[in-house]
Amino acid sequence: MQLNNFTGIFSEYFANLFIQTSSLPLISNPSVLEGFEGFVSLLYKKDNQSINGIKYLFKHQLNTIQIENSNKLLLAFSGGKDSIAAVHLAKEKGFDIVLYHLSGVNRAYNHELQHAQNIAKELGLPLIVEKCTIKGKLPYKEHPIKNALILSKMVDFGLLSGISQFAFGNHYSYKFEVSEFDTDFSDSIECFEELEKGYKNYIPNFKIHSFLRNDKHAFEVLIKHSLNLLSKLSSCLLPPYRKPNVVRANMKFGNVLLVGRCGSCYKCALEYHLAHEANVLSVEYSQDYLAKCKRILKQKNVDLS
Ligand SMILES: [Zn+2]
Repeated sequence: MQLNNFTGIFSEYFANLFIQTSSLPLISNPSVLEGFEGFVSLLYKKDNQSINGIKYLFKHQLNTIQIENSNKLLLAFSGGKDSIAAVHLAKEKGFDIVLYHLSGVNRAYNHELQHAQNIAKELGLPLIVEKCTIKGKLPYKEHPIKNALILSKMVDFGLLSGISQFAFGNHYSYKFEVSEFDTDFSDSIECFEELEKGYKNYIPNFKIHSFLRNDKHAFEVLIKHSLNLLSKLSSCLLPPYRKPNVVRANMKFGNVLLVGRCGSCYKCALEYHLAHEANVLSVEYSQDYLAKCKRILKQKNVDLS
């Protein structure tokens, strides 16, 4: 595995860690894990040396770095629902927002950069774009330290630009739980909290803000502030080549689908459910399809509070 364009103080370190952890197998017995510490220590066990927690991930002996206090915020931006909602909440809190997009991390989505640029323009905010390449096989659907890798590039950028505050479109109610289906450590609040603690050792006024509670919260913020963007956003999980068949199957409920959505994954079900609750679509809602959405959401244990 090879990562290019990770040459800053922090990004070089996290790129190495990313490579090391990529060659390790995913844990086979999740039930033995106890949250963050257990996950990281098992995941990063190498050469019989176990590492506990992100406090040990920062092994460099660096001097403290002083960054002047300001209300500047560097916000990781994909142009998706969550990152747009995070922008609106950050604005409400008075931050001076600069958007940041690291192109090349999500190799499957090659339109992502163009999309992020279009949406940033619509929001009228500056967008910093940095590019990287990751070559080689990725054993994880979501690499456990993907966001930590992106953040390390952002922090390196922040060092040069006098920014010590950062944000992602993460949900602060998203706790790290290992289950048979889900080991998304990268987006968990525990991961962000541990990263903040780690960076604070070097940058005293370092801060990671988490603005969003859950999917529903993000959707509500989006409806309130960027309803016009809704049709351009889709968090649909179904690969495009499978969409036509699934969409056709869902047409039996009437013309109820949002543009670009399959209608059967839990993200699509959630959007329809929330759109109905907020009554934002100028369509007649199908009660049968709403019931189907509820079943999908129940199966996925989606937090609708
Ligand atoms: Zn879908």
